[in-house]
Amino acid sequence: MFHIKFINKKRVIYSDIIPETEHFFTTRETVIRSHEEGLQRLVRQNKKDIANYLDIDKKFLISPTQTHSDNVRLASKRIKYYPNTDSLIDDETDIAIYLNFADCTPIVLYDKEHNVGAIAHAGWRGTAAQIVQKTAALMQSEYYTKPENLYAVIGPTIAICCYCVGEEVFEQLKSTISDIEPYNRQIYEKIYIDLKGINKQQLIEFGVPKNNIDVCPYCTSCNNDLFFSYRKEYGTTSRHSAVLKLNKQKADI
Ligand SMILES: [Zn+2]
Repeated sequence: MFHIKFINKKRVIYSDIIPETEHFFTTRETVIRSHEEGLQRLVRQNKKDIANYLDIDKKFLISPTQTHSDNVRLASKRIKYYPNTDSLIDDETDIAIYLNFADCTPIVLYDKEHNVGAIAHAGWRGTAAQIVQKTAALMQSEYYTKPENLYAVIGPTIAICCYCVGEEVFEQLKSTISDIEPYNRQIYEKIYIDLKGINKQQLIEFGVPKNNIDVCPYCTSCNNDLFFSYRKEYGTTSRHSAVLKLNKQKADI
């Protein structure tokens, strides 16, 4: 289930399914990524507030250059730049990773057994390329993550009420899961797609238990007062972010 909490009196949302981590989705109030000149002061202040909240140095707020690819990389405080990367895996407790979104699906993954997490960026391209499964597979090969110990938080996304796609996109998404039927609606020859649902189904087909997946109820277009929407705002450069920081486990302290 999703809840609202406050960082310096400004809203972020989070799921209670992975209380072992510090994770949240920023809102318009807590924006940390925008090219709009008028927002730069707010972005700087929010980055400072979030670093303070997470108790890390601001330079360890790590974010890749997203390109709608299916490239997954391991984050590290020794690496500053992550070009052409749309999913980051993290096993370090003194950094935080974040990725940026305006309609695309943010997915936070967490392996409770090994204290390893990840954030994937799944727009239609990332979803068609099954980036969330690729991320889980890399966690499996690098950290011996078992699908049954994997938890997923699917964040605010343009939802089936508003996400209309063409035939070609539909066909690509359809081939990623066994049955697209529950995740699309055809209204007057227009196809509406449930990106959150398709990513959830991809995780289930990977072996993640259904009850380990929490899906955010918000649509970024309908809830444009709280989140950014690339479609509704005609190509805005502002983004809300998915943020994840691992906590030290008792054994590490
Ligand atoms: Zn909507």
